[in-house]
Amino acid sequence: MSGTDARGLAKDGVRALRDRVARGDLSAAEVVESHLSRIAAVEPKVGAFLHVDADGARAAAAAIDRDRSAGRPLGPLAGVPVAVKDILCTRGAATTCGSRILKGFIPPYDATCVARLRSAGAVVVGKTNMDEFAMGSSTENSAWQVTRNPWDATRVPGGSSGGSAAAVAADEVPASLGTDTGGSIRQPAALCGVVGMKPTYGRVSRYGVVAFASSLDQVGPLANSVADAAEILQVIAGRDGRDATSSRVPVPDFRAALGRGAQGLRLGVPREYFPAGLDAEVNAAVRRALAEAGRLGAQIEEISLPHSEYAIPTYYIVATAEASSNLARYDGVRYGHRDDAARDLAALYVRTRSGGFGAEVKRRIMLGTYVLSSGYYDAYYRKAQQVRTLIRRDFDAVFEKVDAIVTPTSPTPAFRFGEKVDDPLAMYLADIYTVTADLAGIPGISVPCGETKDKLPIGLQILGPHFDESTILRVAQASESAA
Ligand code: GLN
Repeated sequence: MSGTDARGLAKDGVRALRDRVARGDLSAAEVVESHLSRIAAVEPKVGAFLHVDADGARAAAAAIDRDRSAGRPLGPLAGVPVAVKDILCTRGAATTCGSRILKGFIPPYDATCVARLRSAGAVVVGKTNMDEFAMGSSTENSAWQVTRNPWDATRVPGGSSGGSAAAVAADEVPASLGTDTGGSIRQPAALCGVVGMKPTYGRVSRYGVVAFASSLDQVGPLANSVADAAEILQVIAGRDGRDATSSRVPVPDFRAALGRGAQGLRLGVPREYFPAGLDAEVNAAVRRALAEAGRLGAQIEEISLPHSEYAIPTYYIVATAEASSNLARYDGVRYGHRDDAARDLAALYVRTRSGGFGAEVKRRIMLGTYVLSSGYYDAYYRKAQQVRTLIRRDFDAVFEKVDAIVTPTSPTPAFRFGEKVDDPLAMYLADIYTVTADLAGIPGISVPCGETKDKLPIGLQILGPHFDESTILRVAQASESAA
């Protein structure tokens, strides 16, 4: 039987596994066992998972196999193992969001995206490592463990969804879920050589997603191919009455966009995203991908997004302001960690929060509280909201002329552990090409487009208009088949 070698079945991908289970070539139980052994074999080196739910996965697989033998209809992901970022609430299974302050928290419900995966027949195998509260670009801010880049164990997997990206890159699962607030799906996807997509804000419900910055947070898939990412998106997308910001815009059949090539599409290349100092190998790989898209019949045009230079400061005002408010709920009373030595209520708050949050989270809470404080609100927070509108208008204007925008995903390939972790500003710049899409609410995808001479993957980012995931999936797939 093919696919049962030491690398396991994950590399076969979402669609092949689903089809083989549906045909009865493989049982869901065999699929899950293959993945659990692959996970056991590589986790000591990779460290992508905070928690592997072997029993839960086996029980879910057994239920699929029973449905199949009874002739009951199978869901579109029946028998497909999926890993989910630890920011997503999973019923009865620990959810820490990478933080000590949520140690011991067991959600009584599933996030809507997790519930939708399960009802489509996906087998949730575990929770992946992440930067604490999704704040970071390397997963080094996890309170729990290090996740290594499967391409080079001396390097970071990117972040904050580093565990979800590494799990796919190491063939531990064929797909995973991450969240993107400023780039945390696309950037780790680029650094780990996998596909990662941030849908339009509102496309996927945020119900049960631990809140970081509510006007930016969005859930999306990571997988080994664009078509597989589309399969996952299809299942998790759509209106949810439990999230008032989830959109009523109808969900199209994303698969219909695939296989149509790049012929006739107008692609914009923003000059602000290719500064003189851009990493030479990243620049060369993205230019090659653009030339290839041109050969495939796309029209390539230089465009301008003039407010790009304000994106990082704007993002770090908006995101920290929202975080300072969202994280006020961790007071030692309701969730997870509580400092037992406190003698009165004020001490309970102070001691719980001092001991429960890591340095980056504290930095963000202080910065966010500052920009919202009465004397500075107008100077920082209001100003940032105004600039956010200008950034969004830059995109609106450009999408009058082009169908999609093509850029590098990350200014550099995967960096080494420790290289940026003590310099927050250097770390913040890792997201210089991704935060704009979150600020504007538009969809973006990262797809591998080559390797450096040291064999590190490079990602190509494609951005599209609101609710037009179909076009960016189409462009990404054309470039994936050309790479
Ligand atoms: N690196 C960015 C930050 O630290 C983005 C994080 C994210 O998208 N969750 O805020």
